[in-house]
Amino acid sequence: MELPAELTRIVRVLAPNPGLRELEGTNTWVVGRWPAVVIDPGVEDPSHLDEVVEAAGRVGAVLLTHDHPDHAPGALTLGRRTGAPVYAARPIEGMRRLHDGQEIRIPGVALRVVATPGHSPDHVAFFLEREGALFTGDVVLGRGTSVIDPPEGDLVQYLRSLRRLRELRPRTIYPGHGPVVLDATAKLDEYLAHREERERQVLAGLASASRPRTPEELVPEIYVGYPAELHPLAARSVLAHLLKLEAEGRVERVKADGEVRFALAHPRACERCGRPVHGRARLCGPCSLAVLQEGG
Ligand SMILES: [Zn+2]
Ligand SMILES: [Zn+2]
Repeated sequence: MELPAELTRIVRVLAPNPGLRELEGTNTWVVGRWPAVVIDPGVEDPSHLDEVVEAAGRVGAVLLTHDHPDHAPGALTLGRRTGAPVYAARPIEGMRRLHDGQEIRIPGVALRVVATPGHSPDHVAFFLEREGALFTGDVVLGRGTSVIDPPEGDLVQYLRSLRRLRELRPRTIYPGHGPVVLDATAKLDEYLAHREERERQVLAGLASASRPRTPEELVPEIYVGYPAELHPLAARSVLAHLLKLEAEGRVERVKADGEVRFALAHPRACERCGRPVHGRARLCGPCSLAVLQEGG
């Protein structure tokens, strides 16, 4: 990709909300200057918002990647203070609604809205197309992995969103938490590979057990060496994988003693030839093909 001679000024202002999910805190991105677009003002903290205004000069627009409490609460305050419109995909009163594919344009900055549901249903990324800069919110972090916490989080949608971002061929990722990622494609590939590996581990964990298991029971063997304080969060991630596999017909939910457990789905018999069928299909591959050919 040919880079423009003059790059857009992109400044990070770190919000004072460090935590397990937030890493060092939320990254508030200031894109351009006088006017600037502010992405994810973060928590409503007066000195943080002071710093954001200072970095922006004049604020032309305030954008939210999603409405989680570590990204959104400062938005309306910043909008009121600067007179800038506030945009969100799941707007509350006083905000404007963002749409997939929309272009947000202020003098000197044009950002494309890319719907990226999965971490949350309302999640969007912002793409500075002319220089390949992608603002990913909580879909891709600078370090570690994104939290997919059902039912707000949906792994099927999340994986689709990662592939969609990869198709944009971004150069650099400006994440919602953690450091800037200089090789965007490698990071997106790493994220996809990581989820595939987790899925293999979840399936292996179910295959090795003599009875259906809960997400909590699968965590210690999958997250070997992780501190125990991360286990509840890890269990949410394992549940996200189990729900994806259930939707694909590869895992089934078993209710026992008021607890929800999961087991590998028994392959069903093809309705035409009786051979095992994987997933939810009624017919095996050869029979579906044969039926199609006979019908056509
Ligand atoms: Zn979030
Ligand atoms: Zn976040």
